[in-house]
This record gives sequence, C-alpha cells and structure tokens, in this order.
Amino acid sequence: MKVPLLDLKPQYEQIRAEVEPMLLEICASQAFILGPKVEECEKAVAAYCGARFGVGVTSGSDALIMALMVEGIGPGDDVITTPYTFFATAGAIARVGAKPVFVDIDPVTFNLDADKVAAAVTPRTKALIPVHLYGQMADMDALMAVAEEHRLIVIEDACQAIGAEWNGRRAGSVGDYGCFSFFPSKNLGCFGDGGMVTTQDEQKARKLAIYRNHGMDPKYVHHVIGGNFRLDALQAAVVSIKLRHLDQWTHGRQQNAVRYEVLFAETDLLQDGRVSLPQKIGSRHIYNQFVLRAERRDELLAYLHEHGIGAEIYYPIPLHLQDSFRSLGYRQGDFPESERAAKETLALPIYPDLTSDMMKQVVQTIADFYGV
Ligand SMILES: *Cc1c(COP(=O)(O)O)cnc(C)c1O
Repeated sequence: MKVPLLDLKPQYEQIRAEVEPMLLEICASQAFILGPKVEECEKAVAAYCGARFGVGVTSGSDALIMALMVEGIGPGDDVITTPYTFFATAGAIARVGAKPVFVDIDPVTFNLDADKVAAAVTPRTKALIPVHLYGQMADMDALMAVAEEHRLIVIEDACQAIGAEWNGRRAGSVGDYGCFSFFPSKNLGCFGDGGMVTTQDEQKARKLAIYRNHGMDPKYVHHVIGGNFRLDALQAAVVSIKLRHLDQWTHGRQQNAVRYEVLFAETDLLQDGRVSLPQKIGSRHIYNQFVLRAERRDELLAYLHEHGIGAEIYYPIPLHLQDSFRSLGYRQGDFPESERAAKETLALPIYPDLTSDMMKQVVQTIADFYGV
C-alpha cells in the first residue's frame, strides 16, 4: 500500500457538491477580482482567527511583504526572524530592502527562542517575524514582551498555523499582523495561490487594502506605491467553503497525531531514542506537519520512499546557509539548533483522510528500517 505525504482528492470529494456550483456561479457572473466573495472570505477568516480585519492577498509570501511595506520597513532596517522556516519568511524581508537577522530556535518546538530574540535586538531592529512552524504557535507571551519593551512591530508568519492557539489566543490575532497562505498544501488551501493578512487595527487594515491595489485611493490617485496583491473571487469562494470544514479536518489531524503516538509507543523506537515525536506545548496544535527527529534520517527517508511512503524534510538547509543570503555573513555553526533540526527532522503523512491501516504501515516501515 502506498501512503502519500498528502492527498487532497478525498477532501475534494467531501466538498465537491458545494464548490462546483459556486465556481460556475462566479464564472457566470464574470466578476473575478476582489468584490463580495473576497469580502465574505475576509470576514470569515478574520473571525475564525480572532482578528477584527482580514485583507485577502495573492499569497502568503505577499502577505508578509505587504505587512512590511505598510510599516515602511526597508533599507537600513533589521527584522528578526528564524532561519528554520520556509524561504518566503526571510525572502520577504530582503525583498523590501531590509536585513533579515536570524535567531536560533527552541529545539522542542522548532520556533524562535524568545530569550535569544531579546539578546539580538539592537537600535536598528524594527520588526520581529515569529513563524508558527508546523502548526504550533511560537511563545507569543515571551515574544510580545520583548516586542513591547523595544517597540517592535510583530508580524506573525501564520502560514502553517491557521486556528492554532497559544494561551487561548489564535495565530494571527496576537501580533500587529498575521500572515496566512492558502497554498493548497496548507490546512486551509485554495485551488491555486492565495493568502490573507489579519490585523486588529482598522487603520492598518485600511492601509493594507490600499497597498494591495497599487496604493490607489481614491481611483487613480496614488499617495503611496503598492502593488497588485489582489485575491480573486474564485479562490476566496473556495476558502470560504473549506473554512466551514476546517475544524473537522483539524480534529482529524490531531487524532492522527495521537494515533501515531500510540503506534510508536507499541514499538521500541521511542525508548531507544531512534525516533522522537513532536511535542505539543500547551496550545492548540493544528499539525500542518507531523515532524519527528530520527537517527540516520537521510537513510530512513530513502527507505520510506523506496517503500512507497511519502515523507519530506522541512527544511534541509537553514536560511542562514542559503547561497542567496551569503552576503549576510553567517556561517555554519551560527545557529546550532536550526542546523541540527535540518539534519534530524522528517515529516510524515498526517492529513485527515489517512486510514489507520496507512498509519500502521508508516510506523511498521520505520520499525523495519531500524530492525526493531
Ligand atoms: C507556505 C509558507 C509561506 C508562503 O506562502 P505562499 O502562499 O506559498 O506564498 C510563508 N511562510 C511559511 C512558514 C509557509 O509555510
């Protein structure tokens, strides 16, 4: 039996009857850009995230760029973030002309280590971008305390964390901005690229809406230079429909995480330390990824692929060691926990439609690899 890392086809079957008439309705209307479908989606996603406003944009990457643009962050400014994330987080900082300043992660959650963030702040630091990696929020109490002390703008990269909670507050509702991606492999994905920025501040929401449309306000009057960051009606309508199912799908992922814990505990893999499972730290983890640490990780990955099991490394090269960031002057050894995570971690299939037989197969194949 093959077990893919992610298979969206069963999910589509669940929503097909809702989605297809909606897509045809939008085609018949020939109204594709922004408009009521986007507004409806913005209201629903913002409410789900516990934020007052949502501004639909072209992607999660553009959501990050827009938050930085609206704050006027650019050349001469430093922005602190983690080197253990998808490229877009730091790419956005560089693309507005600011400098990414990396800080190492906490080895348990894989998220920014708040004490190290506090130590890295300088007078040039303007903003902080914590990433809620794999679906679990960073320690927002500690990070917000650092940000408040130094008056930093906080932009949550919540692309992997829609609906995740930290002390009862949802991803995207705590910082100045929350950035979400509707890339198909995220927990709330559309049928192409899409994203959203959330905020509690009406003034910021207004600015975001203006920057999203070339800084135009009113028509053909441009006081600022924005861009085309508009979400389209087809994608917004898909997101609105899928959002109604999201809690059920998240529950399925959480149940699968518990099932993995049981299945692994039935082997000797955990006791002998060959594998260690992700830790949930007192918050709502939405398991965009189920990421463990494993001995001889690269060999295990090859073995899983040979045996038809989908698995992936998120992410094999920390950002401070990427060629494109060489000019920042970082070296191997600068962020030991990020470098170790990049060598040891592996994501297993966790999507809600996995069957228990598929999960047994995953764990059995790992046990076979280690010969236990
Ligand atoms: C997916 C992702 C992004 C980028 O989102 P896109 O919609 O693909 O542009 C940014 N940050 C993180 C952490 C992500 O996982």
